[in-house]
Amino acid sequence: MSANENPLSSAQPGRKIIVAIDGPAGAGKSTIARHLARHFGLLNLETGAMYRAFALKALRMELPLDKSEGLASLATETDIRLEPGEDENRVLLDGEDVTGLIRNQMVTDAASRVSIFPAIRARMVSLQQQLGSGGGVVMEGRDIGTVVFPHAEVKIFLDAAPEVRGLRRFDQLGPAPAVQPEEVIRDLRARDERDRNRADSPLKPAADAVLLDSTSMTLEETVAAAEAIVAAKLDRLDPRSRSGKCC
Ligand code: C5P
Repeated sequence: MSANENPLSSAQPGRKIIVAIDGPAGAGKSTIARHLARHFGLLNLETGAMYRAFALKALRMELPLDKSEGLASLATETDIRLEPGEDENRVLLDGEDVTGLIRNQMVTDAASRVSIFPAIRARMVSLQQQLGSGGGVVMEGRDIGTVVFPHAEVKIFLDAAPEVRGLRRFDQLGPAPAVQPEEVIRDLRARDERDRNRADSPLKPAADAVLLDSTSMTLEETVAAAEAIVAAKLDRLDPRSRSGKCC
């Protein structure tokens, strides 16, 4: 079903709905976002992929990742686009398809480091607002409900205990992974720490977000709970409040 055929989103004269999903690393945001996008006929946009693409560019240029100045001027001349696909986003860095290059450990770590700088965030937020301005999207990240689309119709903050998130990530590494589960959990905690404690747009639930803690839930239960949250929010939407222009 396309976004246009979806009565829940097409009932909106101004723009179609935005579903914001935020939460820490490994909480299952991408999986849930993918399911919601399919179920409600929305486009799925993964904002973490944009920070990853920018980090890849900084690594290629061998810029110091702890110095804001060089990174800031690089950001102004960098174009990053997401093209939603069936399963994942195609990520274009200055026109180059880098989808297969941004999921390794080096880029993961670099993305977490560069995303603390306000100039980088401002550039990414602006690109994300352009991408989602027409609505009809599920956008996932760390600051979607608080900063990127504070007027999103639906906001979900997806969380789980760090050990559980780490073990889920470890299980995704396939047979004979090169790391121990403890290392995965440690890395995840370090990224959480940076995301939650940065001065600009720290990771936190928006005041009007629905909290969903999947620590003791199966994937199926989490998907069902997220679908119910979106459906309930959509049911409650007053048509007049849906016609407002986005941020
Ligand atoms: O979600 P993902 O793990 O791909 O994100 C990579 C990194 O980008 C995260 O560790 C986080 O620090 C940063 N990020 C962010 N704001 C977002 C999305 C991701 O700071 N909206």
